[in-house]
Amino acid sequence: MNELPMDDGQRCILIVEDEPKIAALLADYLQAHGGYRTRIVNRGDEALDEFRRAPPDLVLLDLMLPGLDGIEVCKRLRAESSVPIIMVTARVEEIDRLLGLELGADDYVCKPFSPREVVARVKAVLRRSSLSEADLGEPGLQIDSERFVASYKGKPLDLTPVEFALLRSLHAKPGRVFSREQLMDLMYSDYRVVSDRAVDAHVKNLRRKLTAAAPDVELIESVYGLGYRYAP
Ligand code: CA
Repeated sequence: MNELPMDDGQRCILIVEDEPKIAALLADYLQAHGGYRTRIVNRGDEALDEFRRAPPDLVLLDLMLPGLDGIEVCKRLRAESSVPIIMVTARVEEIDRLLGLELGADDYVCKPFSPREVVARVKAVLRRSSLSEADLGEPGLQIDSERFVASYKGKPLDLTPVEFALLRSLHAKPGRVFSREQLMDLMYSDYRVVSDRAVDAHVKNLRRKLTAAAPDVELIESVYGLGYRYAP
């Protein structure tokens, strides 16, 4: 894990983007509105060298790149580092495919994006990644995988087995977006056919129970067009 300095202003973002205008726009915004330092590389095959030369605090990674595509860059980065990665794609449909590949990216942004949105995502991902292991998760939420019970601040949550499986899967990877397809696979090991709507219905029930136990926090966030994530 990177040692994150207390001061946000010292954090460095590596932008891997082959369109100079977009790269410059992102760099400007990240500097002006996030106080981040930025470095830019235009080619996928240069991203790894640049990463190793001076590891950044976060990588903003375009999908379509000359030299080596973003998928391959992401895989290789993950093979050697847990650095937060936000992938940038040109098509929203692509995100489902990327989620299915389980590349281990922390978030996804689709072009055209508003630079403000990107800065917000960068901040959120950095905030989550700087939580130490001990801090991970909402402290009130306890999940006992051996006994298949979950509780909030000592109060047991009355969850169905499917709801428990959902919560456990989301909770295990805080901040990571899960598509409905992935959640289906995690919830049902027997390959029964379940619709997206069934996933939504289970999530809705799970959220209702969580909200009843913890009215002040929203532990499960829906990510428009993508799926859900556990967001402590
Ligand atoms: Ca590109």
